[in-house]
Amino acid sequence: MIIKDDEFGEVIVRKNALSRGVKFTVSTSGRLMMSVPKYTSDFLAKRFLNSNRKVIREKLPIKNPNEQRARDYQKKILMKKAKEYLPYRLEYFAKLYGYSYNKCRLSHANTRWGSCSSNKTISLNIGLMKLPVNLRDYVILHELAHLNHMDHSRAFWNEVKEHDHNYKNHEKKLKLFNPGV
Ligand SMILES: [Zn+2]
Repeated sequence: MIIKDDEFGEVIVRKNALSRGVKFTVSTSGRLMMSVPKYTSDFLAKRFLNSNRKVIREKLPIKNPNEQRARDYQKKILMKKAKEYLPYRLEYFAKLYGYSYNKCRLSHANTRWGSCSSNKTISLNIGLMKLPVNLRDYVILHELAHLNHMDHSRAFWNEVKEHDHNYKNHEKKLKLFNPGV
């Protein structure tokens, strides 16, 4: 359920069989989320929200509704750009350097630019579309190298280096950016 609230914007209410009390958290886009016990009525959920206004205001970094909308919009644009670019760029480098992966997933995790799973799925963060091309390519090459080395061993870095001589510099520069959208 979603409560449309004048102060906090859209509040997402999750009814959870396991939760005993009411818990407030904030989503990555700055939206207020509320988890309540499974059989809580909508009326009661609104009452919980009202009686906790002060605490929420003081403790949680909620974005106001306009900021939320701007963030959602930015995310949508990035997702669109990412869809049209990242899977093709990944495919391009995979072909060029003879890698084979299972599939490409687009993510919007807050903490990582990319990942490579043991079933050879490569995830790329849509936030990569905000980076300069050389850093974007570095992340892709980094994840491709994980297809052969699932760690950050010397052998792994040697492989990254083969395709990106400047990888150390790129790794350092990447730290200046935040993957969150
Ligand atoms: Zn890695």
